[in-house]
Amino acid sequence: MPHHPLSPGELKPTVQALPRTDDTSALAAEVQRLRVDVERLGRAERLQRALFAISDLASSDQDAATVLHGLHEIVGRLMYAENFYIVRYSPETDTMRFIYFADSLDPIKPDPTEELPASQMGNSLTLALIRHGRPVLGPSDDVRRALNVPRDETLGPDSEDWLGVPMVDEGVVRGAVVVQSYDPETRYSEDDRALLGYVAQHILTALARRDAQEELERRVDERTRELRQQIAERERSERLQAALFRIAEQAGRSESIEVFYAEVHGIVSALLDARNFFIALLTDDGRELDFPYSVDERDQKRPRRRLAKGLTEYVLASGQPLLADRDGIHDLVAEGKVQSFGTPSVCWLGVPLQIGGQPVGVIAVQSYTPDYLYTKRDQELLSFVSFHIAQALERRQANESLRLAYAELEQRVASRTSELADANRELLDQISVRERMEHKLKHEAMHDTLTGLPNRSHLLGRMGMALSRYRYDPTQLFAVLFLDLDRFKVVNDSVGHLVGDELLKEAARRIGRCVRDPDMVARLGGDEFAIVLDFIHTADDAVAVADRVISSLAEPMRIAGKELYTSASIGIALVDGRYRSPEELLRDADVAMYRAKATGRQRYALFDEHLHEAALKLLELEGDLRRALQRQEFEPHYQPIISLADGGLVGFEALMRWHHPVRGLSAPGDFIGIAEETGSLEHMDWQVYELVCRDTKRLSARNAYITLNVSPRHLRAPDFESRLLEMMARHAVKPAHLRLEVTEGALLEQPEQVQACLGRLREAGVLTLLDDFGTGYSSLSYLHRFPLHGLKIDRSFVAELRSGESGGSTAIVRAIRLLADSLGLEVIAEGIETEEQRYQLRLLGLSLGQGYLFSRPASASEILARYGMSDGGTA
Ligand code: C2E
Ligand code: MG
Ligand code: MG
Repeated sequence: MPHHPLSPGELKPTVQALPRTDDTSALAAEVQRLRVDVERLGRAERLQRALFAISDLASSDQDAATVLHGLHEIVGRLMYAENFYIVRYSPETDTMRFIYFADSLDPIKPDPTEELPASQMGNSLTLALIRHGRPVLGPSDDVRRALNVPRDETLGPDSEDWLGVPMVDEGVVRGAVVVQSYDPETRYSEDDRALLGYVAQHILTALARRDAQEELERRVDERTRELRQQIAERERSERLQAALFRIAEQAGRSESIEVFYAEVHGIVSALLDARNFFIALLTDDGRELDFPYSVDERDQKRPRRRLAKGLTEYVLASGQPLLADRDGIHDLVAEGKVQSFGTPSVCWLGVPLQIGGQPVGVIAVQSYTPDYLYTKRDQELLSFVSFHIAQALERRQANESLRLAYAELEQRVASRTSELADANRELLDQISVRERMEHKLKHEAMHDTLTGLPNRSHLLGRMGMALSRYRYDPTQLFAVLFLDLDRFKVVNDSVGHLVGDELLKEAARRIGRCVRDPDMVARLGGDEFAIVLDFIHTADDAVAVADRVISSLAEPMRIAGKELYTSASIGIALVDGRYRSPEELLRDADVAMYRAKATGRQRYALFDEHLHEAALKLLELEGDLRRALQRQEFEPHYQPIISLADGGLVGFEALMRWHHPVRGLSAPGDFIGIAEETGSLEHMDWQVYELVCRDTKRLSARNAYITLNVSPRHLRAPDFESRLLEMMARHAVKPAHLRLEVTEGALLEQPEQVQACLGRLREAGVLTLLDDFGTGYSSLSYLHRFPLHGLKIDRSFVAELRSGESGGSTAIVRAIRLLADSLGLEVIAEGIETEEQRYQLRLLGLSLGQGYLFSRPASASEILARYGMSDGGTA
């Protein structure tokens, strides 16, 4: 509340007993005094009511225009206010904005969204009032003279009476409210001036409150958007992980190379538009191009050809991916670099297939219509996939030549029994065509009626009814639950669609068993379901259902002889007065579901409270971090890196901890995201690095190295390496005793600069490891470009290792090791928690690792005590 020069109480009359007197003139005076009092009382009451109305308006959820209009009406009840405007002034930018403007004579209405610089408003009476800082009243001519403003015809007609009051907050003018009259009969009094004074202060408070609310909502929206993006990003890399996994698996499994190619095509189709896709391979003599696999909407056949000047040959020769649209292709043709073959495409994307650094072929996708154009992102994906396909091909090649010999033999036998076989084959073909058709029809029909549940529009209709019922009677609460099966896509990809469909049906049945009769369960598409819960009393009722659904879906499902696991994340939105449409409710439930997923799947989240709270907590955390930085509360803990064979100590990873005087220790997961966003992370890092350097002398006693986690921004700072080297020199830290851990993301931005920076550090003796390998992907195909010493396999892969040859992430870890071997990189496995994992990793040929199995991260003194290292530096 701003401070008022007067309080409304002072306008109240003082009630006194009537004096006993015979003096009539005294009595008359008394009566007169009372009448004045009564009038004041009336005014005070009206003012009081107006102030309440203003604060009601401010906290209502009506839009800005309605609120401003409401303010005008309230002032109109207190005084003549046909001509009325509100202007806001920002001293920070010295600009003003006419947020509301009503005038019976002035034909020009200022734009309420336009910030007008004071420098261009020299003759404005309103600006003069703002500068003056106190109320003014009188004919506009007089006021102008008093405030020393020249007359300016363009700024509206002159008024008979002009009453302007500044809006002041803690001594700073933040705007003004003005009423004026063009009628000589209607003038303003000193009382009006006092009234408008109060009203102005309340208007300011009301506007400020709305601003704060809007700001909060904006931040919540922003966070929500970011969350969605993060999830999309994560899902994308999950899909890629699944693809990688399938390539690695298929390579060893497919019956024939044709089947393998078809599988690869299927995998690529899941990642990008691959309606037109081919694989081209150089023949053994290197003179011809063979197209062992090609699926195309236009060019049915892609015959083998002598090397010519096609786009494929261009990619083959350059060894680089090519992404070209029609203009790009045209340019290449014009420059004589290529000749076009086949149907011209609107967009063409090809990447080389390389074995042992030698180009052996090309994978390409193309689009003949402008509705799908490939992006750099697609190029990265395809490059990434090609790398793995090439590896799989290499492994197959040896087996394949043997298989070909057998096939040839079979072929000969087959041709001997030709006639009979031909007849038979024809019959078989017919049968299989019919079967395939039937299958397809059945499949489509099954998709339509897969679960027999209502669909989205049905659901929205039902929610619409519930919403109108609630509007009519707000005790008729209802809620909507948005449900998404966690990792369904991964399951579906690995076990096939038919089993996936069965899983969806079973999930639908189980969800149905968790609700009562009038409630509705609907399938929104894919693995998304929604539930409308009618007639509930509190949010707890919805939570109880969510709990039931989650535990019911957590039970394993037996489908087609397989034991399948799925789980659900649920977002809950409870109806309230804000909702105008069922779509809004569903959207909020969706947002809450994303939140549930982001906080770790198989759980539910309620919309609103949590999201609002999260936004508020975030603001608090920002402040806390700044203070913590000043008080130097960040310190390193250390986790040993171990030789898997004999448990010997190899090094330590330094991990940041926040030592809060009250809350104690917390790990980066709780604060690093926001620290990165607000730009404090670099400073925090340097605080930690200093302490690491101080500890290094003792920790490296047995020649162990220490790794520093380097956030991406450092690598973009031009002085990072010099600052690091200077710090090391100051603490006499040997370069061999310090290593850096960077993430794939950090390599991606400005790769040239990062490459140079890491290169110079390597020359100085400081090696770099790639952290969390496998969680990102984009830079994978450029991996060899960076001067890296090793990879750290992300702990999610270690966690998913299963015993036995295949299953889980075994294939991926094997692929990563092969990749690292071929690039001469060392590999460290992160997050080893069990003996079994250590055993599996050793089987896969890994020799270094870290994890809780060996040691949790601990403070320098604990570590020193455990390893018996002393200040002296000898073991
Ligand atoms: P990271 O570099 O991948 O570090 C490994 C994380 O896994 C650490 O989490 C570690 O405590 C945890 N961990 C180690 N062994 C196991 C295990 O067996 N099981 C499980 N579940 N977890 C294990 P922490 O300390 O919470 O750090 C998280 C991330 O924060 C780090 O991931 C790193 O990216 C970042 N970070 C840590 N310290 C710093 C720092 O000083 N500067 C910067 N910029 N980032 C840091
Ligand atoms: Mg690390
Ligand atoms: Mg890591």
